[in-house]
Amino acid sequence: MAKFIGAHVSASGGVFNAPLNAKALNAKAFALFTKNQRQWNAKDLETDVIDKFKRNLEDSGILPKHVLPHDSYLINLGHPEAEKLAKSRDAFIDELERCKLLGLDRLNFHPGSHLKQVDEDTCLDTIAESINIALDKTSDVIAVIENTAGQGSNLGWKFEHLGHIIDKVEDKSRIGICIDTCHMFTAGYDIRTKEAYDITMAQFESIVGFKYLQGMHINDSKPDLGSHVDRHHSIGEGKIGLDAFRFIMNDDRIDDIPMVLETIDDTIWKQEIELLYSLVD
Ligand SMILES: [Zn+2]
Ligand SMILES: [Zn+2]
Repeated sequence: MAKFIGAHVSASGGVFNAPLNAKALNAKAFALFTKNQRQWNAKDLETDVIDKFKRNLEDSGILPKHVLPHDSYLINLGHPEAEKLAKSRDAFIDELERCKLLGLDRLNFHPGSHLKQVDEDTCLDTIAESINIALDKTSDVIAVIENTAGQGSNLGWKFEHLGHIIDKVEDKSRIGICIDTCHMFTAGYDIRTKEAYDITMAQFESIVGFKYLQGMHINDSKPDLGSHVDRHHSIGEGKIGLDAFRFIMNDDRIDDIPMVLETIDDTIWKQEIELLYSLVD
């Protein structure tokens, strides 16, 4: 088995509950927030909490490299204002440290927004600088940039944005990419037919590179191709449709990374995971 599918599970009550929630879905991967994603501050992870997380993870049979923690929504590593940028950078470093304490090796984050105050290139440079600072002050954990739908002033929707950031990151061994299929589609990259899928993925390979792919978010999309709106849908129910997920499940460039559902109906995640595995030829 080369594909590792799961969902972004709840960590309410404590991070150690996330592996239990994943196991209940028969998942082989999962995502979680290691702190409240809508607040700046969080309690430090205590030793007993860390131990319990590691124990439950081991019991789940899921490998640490198949866990894809997601950082707080408040963080903007490309913030045009110095004070807010500093706050984001500190919070991002804290998130990387939390991952390391939990024995995890990657952290998924949205690159950042220019808030219409600076141009795209300046913002992308700021994001890369933020990553360089954070990697310098931490160890081991890979910073995994998620492509976005390009809603509002969010950058990272074009493969060129991702390539630009990676290019300016000094330690290439600790930078990665997470492709969100809904975001990719509403950003304008079609994957609905084999032909379109092959073209899009060839573009990804030449502009970014599959060697940086450290995770995927597996979502169908409510809005149309190129709409730049971020609204997920259940697999096969949205505008992307089931075929695209068959191409993904049979693409060996996407082996051995966490593939995480963020679809809208968590009561069918278990069936969605089964459905995705059933697509493997
Ligand atoms: Zn996502
Ligand atoms: Zn989204």
